[in-house]
Amino acid sequence: GPIVVWIRDDLRLDDNPALAHAAETGRPVVPLVVLDEDSAGVRALGGAHKWWLHHSLESFASSLRGIGSELTLRRGKAKDHVLDVVEAVGATALFFNRRYDPASRRIDDAVETALGEDVEVERFTGNILHEPEAVQTKSGGYYKVYTPFWKNVSETGFRDPMDPPKGLKQPDDFPKSERLKDWNLLPTKPDWSGGIQDLWTPGETAAQERLEHFCDDLLQDYEAGREKPFADETSRLSPRLRWGEISPFRAWHTANAYASRRKTIPDAAIRTFRQELVWRDFNYHLLYHFGRLEADNFNDRFDGFSWRRSPKDLKAWQKGLTGYPIVDAGMRQLWQTGWMHNRVRMIVGSFLTKDLLIQWQEGERWFWDTLVDGDIASNTAQWQWVAGSGADAQPFFRIFNPITQSEKFDPEGAYIRAFVPELKDVPAEAIHAPWEADEKVLAKAGVTLGKDYPKPIVDHGEGRQRALDAYQKVKG
Ligand code: FAD
Repeated sequence: GPIVVWIRDDLRLDDNPALAHAAETGRPVVPLVVLDEDSAGVRALGGAHKWWLHHSLESFASSLRGIGSELTLRRGKAKDHVLDVVEAVGATALFFNRRYDPASRRIDDAVETALGEDVEVERFTGNILHEPEAVQTKSGGYYKVYTPFWKNVSETGFRDPMDPPKGLKQPDDFPKSERLKDWNLLPTKPDWSGGIQDLWTPGETAAQERLEHFCDDLLQDYEAGREKPFADETSRLSPRLRWGEISPFRAWHTANAYASRRKTIPDAAIRTFRQELVWRDFNYHLLYHFGRLEADNFNDRFDGFSWRRSPKDLKAWQKGLTGYPIVDAGMRQLWQTGWMHNRVRMIVGSFLTKDLLIQWQEGERWFWDTLVDGDIASNTAQWQWVAGSGADAQPFFRIFNPITQSEKFDPEGAYIRAFVPELKDVPAEAIHAPWEADEKVLAKAGVTLGKDYPKPIVDHGEGRQRALDAYQKVKG
């Protein structure tokens, strides 16, 4: 009988084990996507997510047509639709690549149970390099610190990527599909997606092209390049990995192949890139073992922490109107393009949780709604890392100074100028902390503070002290 391949965040033909193994059987294959925002515990997608998903599904459906198949789309509770499709086509097997967050795991288990013994369910590893069960400390627990995790996994290795199927056999009839355009995933009134559209091309082909470009042109300078927010020198694979348009196995494999061919790629560069891909795995393992990562502090000492509630400050942060140019540039890059440079994510995260003393969950939610790469494992783990409540976290008392960070990582102010146009004529010496600048210098650049650009909503020194005082109370 036919095999239903339930596609989730793995919108690709290449190195998609569930799809490849189904194709190899020679049996008819029915690729299915269910947009499930209704099952218990599942998070609704953010606005930027929906934009990406729409285009990525369009591209994936077209790739499937290219190999003689057809994508079935359903929206609603995954279990109901999967069972319905299995029955409609008389499938005798269901294949999918594993998921690791608690809600998805519950759904996947419930589907398997409900299908009973007549339908064979096969799970594959497609989206992280190392299965959570396969990486254990000496005492049999899971790693809570990255470095030993990295050390452990770098000694084990993993499978090679699999080729895309050349063709998929059709069933007698494809099941009834909904139409993508009826899902209304794209924003209309207002359509805020212009900046996102300018920067990104979703889909598997674009993902592969970006990976090649990164390996060919950027990898050799990745060590220095990744520390420059204004430069386009990182892989920008994060949304592609998030939606599974490219597999981490493929990314790793391709980068390694370049590094072994090209003497100009330093060992340190390829090692750092691998370590970043493994951070992603590490976050997934934390989520798998500590399922409440999105809601609860990993370090429960922070449960008694006295966060501030300030809708006004939160709004200023979200809109990029805090008066700290590097913070505002980051928040506006996020809003305009659906993405933010890693260094700046750390700066804005520290600013929210420490200078403003607003709890990390607020920041995590905002990122979730606005990032194209908003990922249930990495977003929650990294926010906890920044806030100090996470596993292997930045200690709470290490509070980023937004001015010195800005001077160090955006010395000429190029990043600030790109996203905070009202400061574009302010000279480099004044752009990191305009409130300290000579009024004449600002006037010459056409800026009156408090009118064209806000005064700081908090004094960094005072905010820092307030945060340290709050920390003293839970420090124990
Ligand atoms: P590169 O430097 O080219 O790295 C290659 C890949 O490695 C990335 O695509 C990503 O998949 C992975 N990676 C790199 N850094 C990390 C990291 N620290 N943790 C996990 N994986 C990493 N990343 C997300 O993918 N989704 C998120 O929702 C997310 N939220 C974040 C929130 C905060 C507060 C912070 C500080 C970081 C967050 N990150 C998140 C991690 C990181 O900022 C992005 O993965 C990175 O900026 C993506 O750019 P890139 O693809 O060019 O990265």
